[in-house]
Parts: sequence; structure tokens; C-alpha cells
Amino acid sequence: MNGMGSLRGSSRQSAAAQPPAAARAPAAPPPLLLPPPPPLLLWDVNKEPGAEATFKQIGEAYEVLSDDQKRAIYDKYGEAGLKGGMGGFGGAEGFGTSDPFSIFEQFFGGGFGGGMGGMGGMGGMGRERPMQGEDERYELQIDFLEAVFGCKKEIDVDRLVACATCDGSGQKPGTSPSTCSTCNGQGQLISNVRTPLGVFQQVQTCPRCGGRGQSVTPCDKCGGDGRVRQGKKIALTVPAGVDKGSRLRVRGEGSAGVRSGPPGDLYVFINVKDHAEMRREGVDIHSDVDISYVDAILGSQVKVTTVDGPVELKIPAGTQPGTTLLMAKRGVPRLGQSGVRGNHQVHVRVTIPKQLSGDEKKLVEQLKESQAKARVGPFRF
Ligand SMILES: [Zn+2]
Ligand SMILES: [Zn+2]
Repeated sequence: MNGMGSLRGSSRQSAAAQPPAAARAPAAPPPLLLPPPPPLLLWDVNKEPGAEATFKQIGEAYEVLSDDQKRAIYDKYGEAGLKGGMGGFGGAEGFGTSDPFSIFEQFFGGGFGGGMGGMGGMGGMGRERPMQGEDERYELQIDFLEAVFGCKKEIDVDRLVACATCDGSGQKPGTSPSTCSTCNGQGQLISNVRTPLGVFQQVQTCPRCGGRGQSVTPCDKCGGDGRVRQGKKIALTVPAGVDKGSRLRVRGEGSAGVRSGPPGDLYVFINVKDHAEMRREGVDIHSDVDISYVDAILGSQVKVTTVDGPVELKIPAGTQPGTTLLMAKRGVPRLGQSGVRGNHQVHVRVTIPKQLSGDEKKLVEQLKESQAKARVGPFRF
């Protein structure tokens, strides 16, 4: 399935509350201006590239900061402690982009004290811990009118599910684990690192057993991951008003977690086909109509294709070229407020013939004479 791919490692985002100011480090001279938490909508229409990652990172940072207990875990064990990943968070690193406090500094201009100190001595933390499944991505193309009024789609999502052979354990059935000989079952390796400031201990996750402290015979089916790729049909309700670049999140429909961890989410990226006659700008629809110069002068009635089907539109007498006529509430329902609709703007183009028949020419010349007699200005379209 080529519409799929792994989005990111994992995350939970609730981000309802703002982080309590008291939870911050003591030194913080100017009051921090925290941005509003990300909206808890099922969909969001942020089209900015990279906004996805930013959005989620901020969500994570909020979650960490708004929960004292989690913050304590983070301070002690880092992101791995929260996510249940493997320990290994050595002295030198650990301040990369996965540190929520540095994310805050990046986006909101500093003010967050460090104070996270070097790690060490995690005593086998992270062994056999559950891990959340990956988020998955699906590209969905829908028709113009399906985006306007919403639709139901059945999509075939390819993601990782628990391996039936080993029941998700990753261990070959009938075998039993043995103590890892590289780390003697500790799950980590401690080495001394000499620096100008002295000798520091560096703790590394055991590369052989991945921090488990045990060697297992991997399952033949899943290669030890405990999960296999499998398709699933999902009935998806696309809400009215989505547009190109809209994303829908389907909670819990990403890949299965590892060792009973929670599943990731499924992100559906919407693409909308163009329409032959109608263009869309947000909740407004635009289209063009061509009328003859005679109809512009005398007025007329034309048929306009709208999202509701063909609608008769009155062209008033004396309509000027380039006039925009508004068909109120014939636009797109606002996402999340399907009762509120945009308008349909009809741009009138007046066609002036390049060649006239003999009769027509005679009539226009008569018109010109009568205008000259009436001392009216030149005939204008
Ligand atoms: Zn397996
Ligand atoms: Zn080991």
C-alpha cells in the first residue's frame, strides 16, 4: 500500500491544560507568554509544511509540563521514561529536540531553565516496557463535491498489528529467554568517559539485548518485533467543508503498540480534485459566466452550476463587464459548523463580437446615430 508510511515514533497528545507556572524552574524573570494549547478537534486544517511535527511536539511538551508526575519522570529518565522506550540517555546527549523544554525554548524564545543534569544509574529502567505504536499516514483523494458536503469512505489501511504466531511477544514459540551475556542481564553498559572536567560515567543501553537483559530467540514470522504488517478496512467519515491539505486523525488506528503499549493514530491527508467550472477559496465558491453585450445591456437569466446543482441567476440590465454577482449561502459549509455556509461569487464576463452580421451592424449603427442625436456620450460597454 503506497499511501501509507510511518509518521513518527509515537506520542500521546491531549494538551488540554496550560503548564502550571509553578512547575517551572525558579529563575524566570519575564512572565512567559504561552501560546494557546492546540485545539482538540478531530481535524485541523493547518497546511503549513512541518506543522504536523511542530504541533505534536508542542502537544507533548504541554502534556509533560502540565502533569507534575510526568515531569518528575521526565526529569529522572528523559523522554524514554515517559514513552516506555529503552533507557540509554547518556551524559553528553539528551538535550536534542526530543527534550520538551528545549522545544519550548525553540518556539517561544527561551526562559526555561535547564537543570536536567546528566543521567546515569537507571538500574535497568526501560526493560520490557510497553511502547506506543507508530502513527500511520494515509493519502485520500476525494471529489470536489465530496469535500464540500462530506462523504463516507472505506479506506484500506496497512499498518502493524500484533503477530499472531508469537502473540505479540516477539519470541519464538517454544523457546525461553536466557540472560544476556554482554551485559550480564543488566540491560545496559557503563563506561567511563574522560573529559576536561573530570571522569564521567556513561550509561548505554546494551546493544545486544536492546536493554532487556535477556536474549530471546526471535519469532520467525515477525523477526522479534511482535508485530506484522496487515491491511484493515476502516470506515471513514469525512466531514463537510474539508479542503486540500486537511488532515483527519483517527485515534488508535495507527500501528499496534509493542508489549501491550497503546496503538498509534492514523492521519488521513485529504487531497481534493479540481472542478471543471467551480473554484474554491476557503468557504467561498467562484465561477465565471459569459454573457453577450446585448444581455449585459438588457438583462438576462443564466444557468449557473453551484454546489447545490444548476441555479438560475438573474443578470440585471446594465451589468458591467467584470461585475461579481453574489449567490448568498451557495458556498461551502464551514468545517465543524455545517449550518454556516459561504457564498458563491459569479464573475460576469461580457462578450463583444469581433464580427457582426450585416443586420446587426446596421442596428448598431442606428443605435450610434440615435445616441449622437440624444447627445449621449459614446456607446460604452
Ligand atoms: Zn511474532
Ligand atoms: Zn544485554
